[in-house]
Amino acid sequence: MTTKELQPQVVQDQPGKRVSWDEYFMNIAIQAATRSTCSRKHVGAVIVRDKTILSTGYNGSIRGMPHCDDVGHMMENDHCIATVHAEANAIIQAAKNGTAINGADIYVTASPCWNCFKLIANSGIKRILYLEFYRDEKILTVSRQAGIELIQVAITSA
Ligand SMILES: [Zn+2]
Ligand SMILES: [Zn+2]
Repeated sequence: MTTKELQPQVVQDQPGKRVSWDEYFMNIAIQAATRSTCSRKHVGAVIVRDKTILSTGYNGSIRGMPHCDDVGHMMENDHCIATVHAEANAIIQAAKNGTAINGADIYVTASPCWNCFKLIANSGIKRILYLEFYRDEKILTVSRQAGIELIQVAITSA
């Protein structure tokens, strides 16, 4: 084999431009959201520690139950309550597999609802990075009181 053949083939659209870690993990959360089965809102979550993905989740029905997209939503107070939310599913996946998430970060495509915020806080996750602010403003003050960083991440490249 010649030296020329050993050269790696690197395709770079924008030379020197590389996504940040935050954008990288947020892009993966965006990918996770594409698996959502409730058209009311597609949300994805990725739990990360030391630049390593520990768990992922998206909002979907209870395991074994039909999907909203197939049978319609379960509406209560103008919300679909059929699904387990992305953040909860990411925490559950870690628990199922015996993966410790204490001290980790969670990347979510939408800021957590109150219930998910409570789960995140008690799971030991220390930073919540979100793309879009969603609904619940209680988390803005309570996160400060609970010592959890709440950071909005902007995606500059897709
Ligand atoms: Zn639904
Ligand atoms: Zn939630």
